[in-house]
Amino acid sequence: MIKFKRTTGKNQVIVGLIVFSTILAFQCEKESLENLNNSDSTQMKSTPDSLAIHEMSRYYNFLEQMKKEGYVFYDFRSYLQADTSRLPEKLIVIRHDIHSRDIPYAYAAYEVEEKVIGPKHSTFYVLLDDPVDITQVGPSIENKYMKFLHTLDTCHVDIQPHISPIDLYISSKHPYWLKYPVDSLKSMFSRNYEWEIGKTGRSIKIKGRDVFQINDINKSMPGLLSRFNSEWTKQTGMQVQGYSAHGSATAMNKVLNNAYLLDQDVLLHSGLYQYDTYNTKILRRLNYLSDNTLPSWMDDPVSIKPGRYEFLMHPYQWRPLMDSGNGNKLEAGLSAPVQHDAL
Ligand SMILES: [Zn+2]
Ligand SMILES: [Zn+2]
Repeated sequence: MIKFKRTTGKNQVIVGLIVFSTILAFQCEKESLENLNNSDSTQMKSTPDSLAIHEMSRYYNFLEQMKKEGYVFYDFRSYLQADTSRLPEKLIVIRHDIHSRDIPYAYAAYEVEEKVIGPKHSTFYVLLDDPVDITQVGPSIENKYMKFLHTLDTCHVDIQPHISPIDLYISSKHPYWLKYPVDSLKSMFSRNYEWEIGKTGRSIKIKGRDVFQINDINKSMPGLLSRFNSEWTKQTGMQVQGYSAHGSATAMNKVLNNAYLLDQDVLLHSGLYQYDTYNTKILRRLNYLSDNTLPSWMDDPVSIKPGRYEFLMHPYQWRPLMDSGNGNKLEAGLSAPVQHDAL
């Protein structure tokens, strides 16, 4: 099954070169066509389409097979415009969460999509300006995100923020529970709160004491999101339509999860974002298909039950197997620095 028992230095160099040349040669379809008109065909022979396919061969096969199965592919922008009563029977709404580890593979993932399903059929959610990410990876990561954003923006791809509201709150307010362990936070939550899930979203009920000052969290959130959105627009020149909630490793995210926070009617009504990808209103219509745990359907897509899906694809999870340390799929998953828990 696993072809590469060990990662040799040579393999790493080859993969490194492929990744590097893919990044250098990335261009959107429109630009490729312009180049085709302006340059002789011998030069075009060197286009790296095959390199992107080689690097992302698992994703290439996945898309090819799903296309053969009759699936239609949307980005979130098109999904939100669509008449929900007339959605295709077999639908995949593609969501990419882009963390620093995903960037080297994200260019090739987009190129593969262009080739198989056409341009602009997926939304990229980028972890720009996340306080924890900047602390952990270093400020230079922001340049890499920006370079990626601009490359995709020239192709008019749907690009939105991947955000962690709970970390925005913590870094701004330094609440007293900041360093509490997950277990304590969980029992504090279950003693004092419960979620009430409605048709359009959820709300939190305080059944004991408001120990987390949820009222303060929710009161601060519109200001924090509004500041985040302005900063996003200032840096990228793009408007925010929606978010995808980041599975931050922060303890409180295992309790007051980002996805739950952004699903609250009180925040959805603020008008600061139209949706989060985990919203009740979205997951009522779309099943959730995620690569977080490296499921077997990644290499066996026909085993997926026909239906309509939100498909979460992290480019890093689809990297060549020889690129993942000792080539062991499970270990590659376990060593992944970004945790998403149940979501
Ligand atoms: Zn994710
Ligand atoms: Zn994430």
